[in-house]
Amino acid sequence: MKINRFLISVLVLLILSLLFSCTKDEKLITEPETMEIYDLSYSNSILTWKSSESTRSIVQYSTDSDFLNHTAYSIQGETTNHSIIFLDLNSDTTYYYRIKQKTADTIIYSSIKKFNSGAVSTPAQILKVVYIDVKQGDSELIKTPEGNVVLIDGGYGSYGAESWTGFGQKITLNYLKSESITSINYLILTHPHADHVGGLADVLSDSSITKVDYVYDNMLSSTSEAYIDFLNAITPRSETNYALPELGSFISLDSDQVKMKLIHNKNQMDEDDTGHYYNDCSLTYHLEFKNFKAMFQGDAETVAQDVILSNYPNDIRSQFYKVGHHGSYNGTSRAWMEKMRPVACYIPCGAGNPYGHPHNQTLTILEDFNVDIYRADQNGTVILLTDGENNFTIIREK
Ligand SMILES: [Zn+2]
Repeated sequence: MKINRFLISVLVLLILSLLFSCTKDEKLITEPETMEIYDLSYSNSILTWKSSESTRSIVQYSTDSDFLNHTAYSIQGETTNHSIIFLDLNSDTTYYYRIKQKTADTIIYSSIKKFNSGAVSTPAQILKVVYIDVKQGDSELIKTPEGNVVLIDGGYGSYGAESWTGFGQKITLNYLKSESITSINYLILTHPHADHVGGLADVLSDSSITKVDYVYDNMLSSTSEAYIDFLNAITPRSETNYALPELGSFISLDSDQVKMKLIHNKNQMDEDDTGHYYNDCSLTYHLEFKNFKAMFQGDAETVAQDVILSNYPNDIRSQFYKVGHHGSYNGTSRAWMEKMRPVACYIPCGAGNPYGHPHNQTLTILEDFNVDIYRADQNGTVILLTDGENNFTIIREK
């Protein structure tokens, strides 16, 4: 009797421990964190959804009409197996959806899993460009597949008129912090106007940025407070090389996989030939990552664009265009668009800015060339992701 009781106890303990271990394993597999997804639809190459955590929109550009088969870097899956994986690179999280309902032009997905991106195979090498919403001003962050960082201009930052939004905020620095960026390979100031240099002193003097390898500047003399603060913030950084880049020189990153060619600087302009000398001197960079190309021209206006076109008549093709001079009438010429032929663009214009940017003339030109328009005042910060092939993904803040 005693032995039987003992055997039963052992058996019970054995069964309990087995049950416990199964439950533990099962919990790991079948009860991942879930997120409620609704209003997720795909129509005319636009994928949008709302979730319990956020509202996001993705626009996918592809030379191929089969959208879902050509999204390896950000969205994987296909309509046939009714599954889709979205890698949210911003928060390093992977979302996995399964198709719930499908109509002619709409696919509704339901979320079934959410897990860290380490749980799925590594996505393709991705270049990320962030058009930071600094209100009326410029700031673009480029992060290469290998993690190198280029920052072009520093947003509105702490200087400027107080009458419209953006004043006094360390927008660019805060964005770098949100991306946990501590090191900048190249910091580029296109020209010394406050809406481009204003936040760079904040970036350069913050202890979170431990290293800045190069600062490229047009070396235009300026006595503005914002520019002086910028120069003073460079001085204590003994590790930083401060230089005016030469026309035709390259910034080469990731073993030459990512290249940025300088196609314009102040040496191409005569001081007397334009009323907008500082804008027209803007350091202008043409980014290249495999087949993907993008244009960064600061505030270079049509006079400067003509100079660039004469120097590089066939080299400015770009899928994405950071619109010149905040969408001003003098920031984008038809000749410029003719050679660049972008698919989409970003206009860095602040809501209620006193210049009336973007001007209707520019919007008309962009529309005539069928360019999809993203705007700081309407879409906030815009993130571009590309694997360097003929497609790219846009994530809008709003
Ligand atoms: Zn500007």
